[in-house]
Amino acid sequence: MSRHNEIATNLNLVKDRIAAAASKSGRSVGEITLIAVTKTFPASDVEILKTLGVTDFGENRDSDGAGKAITVSGTWHFQGQIQSNKLKSITSWAHVIHSLDDMKHFEIIERVAAHPLDIFCQVSLDGAEGRGGVQQEKLYELAQAIQISSHHHLVGLMAVAPLGMSSASAFEMLAKIHQSFIRDFPEANKLSAGMSGDFEEAIAYGATHIRVGSSILGSR
Ligand SMILES: *Cc1c(COP(=O)(O)O)cnc(C)c1O
Repeated sequence: MSRHNEIATNLNLVKDRIAAAASKSGRSVGEITLIAVTKTFPASDVEILKTLGVTDFGENRDSDGAGKAITVSGTWHFQGQIQSNKLKSITSWAHVIHSLDDMKHFEIIERVAAHPLDIFCQVSLDGAEGRGGVQQEKLYELAQAIQISSHHHLVGLMAVAPLGMSSASAFEMLAKIHQSFIRDFPEANKLSAGMSGDFEEAIAYGATHIRVGSSILGSR
């Protein structure tokens, strides 16, 4: 099978899974943005995705994302761990940041970003440092700083299900945090949650942005 057909087949399966999950929870597929996570895959795969109608692409590393974003136009999402010295570059090619979890990083974004960004705050669901995310006690302070920025837009919350917790309990917890969060930040009504293995559960708990790599492009 050609790479084009392989990706097309996988993409259709993912879209079927999204439609089934949405209908199960009485949601419309139009509320759900599929971000194809292209990390570790070549720009030629991103080109194929684009011909198949995908417009949103996600990357975890600045060096990989920068090159692909120059090659293929689209909405580029950064969801990896942020390093201060990479922010000037990341904010030159990415349009959306999913993994902001540190006030210091936002201060740098304010200084160096070449254009306005949509920003999700990444929340830690288990309080551990491991998979990134701001501690819940510090979330409001970070969100406040983005909200008062004249350049950037706070669009919502992001989380990754912690190891050792079921995706359903993780996303249920995230949905609760988000419900109280939007009382104070009503514009931040988006929820970035769910990857290849757990996006159905994320959709059940209100995800508006799912980040799917291996189910579309194959194992890394
Ligand atoms: C790699 C990655 C994804 C995609 O994971 P898959 O299991 O390949 O779908 C989504 N979100 C984050 C934060 C990632 O690092």
